[in-house]
Amino acid sequence: MLLQVVDLKVKYGNIEVLHGINLEVREGEIVAILGANGAGKSTTLMTISGILKPSHGGIYLDKTPLHKLPAHEIVKLGIAQVPEGRRIFGTLTVRENLKLGAFTRRNDAGTAAAEEWVYELFPILAERREQLAGTLSGGEQQMLAIGRALMSRPKILLLDEPSLGLAPILVKSIFQTLREINQQGVTILLVEQNARAALKLAHRGYVMEVGNIVLADTAEQLLANPEVQQAYLGG
Ligand code: ATP
Repeated sequence: MLLQVVDLKVKYGNIEVLHGINLEVREGEIVAILGANGAGKSTTLMTISGILKPSHGGIYLDKTPLHKLPAHEIVKLGIAQVPEGRRIFGTLTVRENLKLGAFTRRNDAGTAAAEEWVYELFPILAERREQLAGTLSGGEQQMLAIGRALMSRPKILLLDEPSLGLAPILVKSIFQTLREINQQGVTILLVEQNARAALKLAHRGYVMEVGNIVLADTAEQLLANPEVQQAYLGG
């Protein structure tokens, strides 16, 4: 097991929003977390990446406990997050944004190689490397956000709503690249409201409702599940 989340509880102030969730991600998998607005999907990712701290339970990467480490140490251990809404730096160029993602590396050769890898995955970013990120299209900004996370050469890539606000054709293209990234050895855990796209990409999925995981199954089984179809796939 590469990543293990055990009986995780998280509070905002006095209000508990994750009520003891358990999930696992094996090396090489793509795992999707589905659920309605407010189910706790983003909170789960932000706790794995160390931005939020749990009130109870643990998170383990290769059996190493992560839940007491600061976020930058968690990146060094191999977990990189693509935040919801991309959060790129609009007044910096594409290249400068990518370099920020390489803060864990000391050597320039490693950074240059990672940058070339990102440009191979997203050729449009290579063409636009000197362009200010704020002038990129929504789809290009999402590619940049993914590219920036890849600059740390993560074992696990966490993605929060990668399809948000994108036209269907772009979602398809970005999800194809995510598959390619996975085939190149990066394990993926993604949160999505676009359940259909997510389950087509993923090997397995979890369904969250108000701070609990209520279903866990293979993507194929979830796509065929009448309750999932009714609630998340438009009937
Ligand atoms: P969405 O897709 O809308 O982001 P989500 O499934 O990712 O939904 P979370 O953002 O994790 O859900 O939110 C889970 C719960 O925690 C919600 O009830 C939300 O209102 C609450 N919450 C989220 N962020 C905060 C915050 N900073 N302070 C207080 N409550 C919060």
